[in-house]
Amino acid sequence: MILIVGGAGYIGSHANKLLTQKGFETVVYDNLSRGHRDFVKWGDFCEGDLLNMQQIRSCFESYRVEAVMHFSAFCLVEESVQQPEKYYLNNVMGTLNLLQIMREFGVKHFIFSSTCATYGFPEKIPISEDHPQLPINPYGQTKLIIEQVLKDYDRAYGLKYINLRYFNAAGADPEGEIGERHHPETHLLPLVISAAMGLKPEIKIFGTDYPTRDGTCIRDYIHVIDLADAHIQALQYLVNQNQSDSFNLGNGTGHSVREVIETVRKIGKRDFKVVETGRREGDPPVLISSSRKAMETLKWKPQYEDLETIIETAWNWHKKRLSL
Ligand code: UDP
Repeated sequence: MILIVGGAGYIGSHANKLLTQKGFETVVYDNLSRGHRDFVKWGDFCEGDLLNMQQIRSCFESYRVEAVMHFSAFCLVEESVQQPEKYYLNNVMGTLNLLQIMREFGVKHFIFSSTCATYGFPEKIPISEDHPQLPINPYGQTKLIIEQVLKDYDRAYGLKYINLRYFNAAGADPEGEIGERHHPETHLLPLVISAAMGLKPEIKIFGTDYPTRDGTCIRDYIHVIDLADAHIQALQYLVNQNQSDSFNLGNGTGHSVREVIETVRKIGKRDFKVVETGRREGDPPVLISSSRKAMETLKWKPQYEDLETIIETAWNWHKKRLSL
């Protein structure tokens, strides 16, 4: 049985669907603070909080957990700067609690949702796993702290883990059962889609004076199904090799904010208002992954390489959701 912590959220719910399709038994653990009960369509469900040891323990008592995938975290950079305590409690303390219960129950395999935000401002593009990790905000810092904790727990307790450092997750389940639904929404792609569907009056571009080809930030958008797939490859690697490691997950291609907006315009065949505003604090100009290591070691290969196809899946999910 695979325990999916945060399995009611965006990436965790896609991992749950894929794991189930591949024949794994799953149980989701989620406090539903940011996740959605209706995203838990597969496997069992334990409602609980990572700050409540008894709730975590009771889930481990009810299910024979063999491995844990940990998606549950607050992940908004700006919020983490304004409310760091919330981030250290949830992302650090919550994870320490989870690791403690795993130890109590002798569970040794852990797949951790880490992030390119652990690298901070890139010194070199594309970013590979050996790039210095110098986070520039509390969100990235909380993720890096857990990466360091995991290294020590491996040495002391034999916990085997994989850190998966995501770049920009995007897109939705192509069958339209689940997708990206955040409250409040702060991510570029769902906001552009909302503007194109007339649900928001405009989309704001945060910064047009970056040293990039069109002045806007460049990001590496990776489809959520490809991220989910990497978790399964990582699990197989842990089971076969019993060796801890870290991998970047991105497509290796960068797209600017303007390119994302233009692609949505093309797919939606609708015009909408675009407002150019100042930079958002803490945004590096360019983030592009080198995912060669994941491809070579995990035999992972993204299926959705083209931005238009990625955005199409997101567009279709929002369209379906709104017509319900
Ligand atoms: N962005 C923007 N307008 C928005 C939201 C985001 O211009 O309303 C930009 C943001 O500054 C960044 C890129 O889009 O350069 C991706 O931001 P997002 O919040 O989606 O992901 P992040 O890169 O922060 O993980």
